[in-house]
Amino acid sequence: MNFSRSLVIGPGGRREVAEFTVPEVEKDGLILEVELARITERDRKLFLRHDLSATLIPGSIAIGRVKAIGDEAAAFYGVNAGDRVVVEPFTSCYNCKPCLTARRRICERRRWYGQDFAADEPPGLGGTWGQYLYVRAGSRIHKVPDEWEAQIALLMPEGLLAYGALFDAGEGSVGKGVLIDAPTILGLLAAALAREGGLDPITVAGCFTEKTRRLAMAMGAHQVLGGEEEILSLDRWKRPDIFLATSSNSSVFNTGIMALAPGGVAVSVDCVNRLSETAFRYAQEHEICLKSITGPAWETNGVRLLLERARYPLAALIEQTFTLDDLVREPELVEAEYAAVNPRLL
Ligand SMILES: [Zn+2]
Repeated sequence: MNFSRSLVIGPGGRREVAEFTVPEVEKDGLILEVELARITERDRKLFLRHDLSATLIPGSIAIGRVKAIGDEAAAFYGVNAGDRVVVEPFTSCYNCKPCLTARRRICERRRWYGQDFAADEPPGLGGTWGQYLYVRAGSRIHKVPDEWEAQIALLMPEGLLAYGALFDAGEGSVGKGVLIDAPTILGLLAAALAREGGLDPITVAGCFTEKTRRLAMAMGAHQVLGGEEEILSLDRWKRPDIFLATSSNSSVFNTGIMALAPGGVAVSVDCVNRLSETAFRYAQEHEICLKSITGPAWETNGVRLLLERARYPLAALIEQTFTLDDLVREPELVEAEYAAVNPRLL
């Protein structure tokens, strides 16, 4: 019998590594042997919570190998045991209007890995920060070539989220200017996708160190900015048409909205921000559209091409890899932006 060492969090600030039995795979299920898992903003917030009422295995995105797969799942996903796949962060019903119109990210029955599956809910293993993940029916996975570096392939779901933010919600197109709030992984993936899509100029704010300035430029930015004063000092004739908020910094969110050109679009990218009255009034008076996007786009070609070609230093986006024990010992490590979890390392 196989066991999975998985990280668990629970009531009373419980954080430890526990061993779970890997269940038999059902006909609509898939057992993933996790190679690498991401630490997203959503995972980070969940991991640092102290008010949980259930015990959970955190982590929503992973790349790994199919260890076992049921017949129905193999037909549905088009993969077999041994294939290398990346798993998107939630399940959906594939049966409601959003699901049937390529917008499963707003399915009302959506359930996130990590936060929505209690550790004791069968078949278990509902989070990616462990040696195995039980991929439930209603998931979406992407087969990736063995040659792809794990840390690059792992970026696929967030690449799709950035793609959706830029081109679906943000209506990005050639010649439009985009302002990105911060050099987060989502923000930098958006910068590279914007560059590939011919948006101009691409501005990444929140670059306070030489390292992030250089990284943002290498990832496709035309210019980098520091704090809010610099955002507000953008030339009024060169104001961006699109603003992407990728971090939970409400102050920058409001400033970004007020930096937009009239008729622009502000997109909150799976983060929670408070809208100020001043920013709301600015939006109203200047016909700014306020939007949000909470999950990966359906269309995958643009992101696949981005990950396949070596035009941007994508591997540099995951510069740190933690073990499960690292995170138990030092929970604040989850604050690292460019990081992943390797549950196989001891
Ligand atoms: Zn649905």
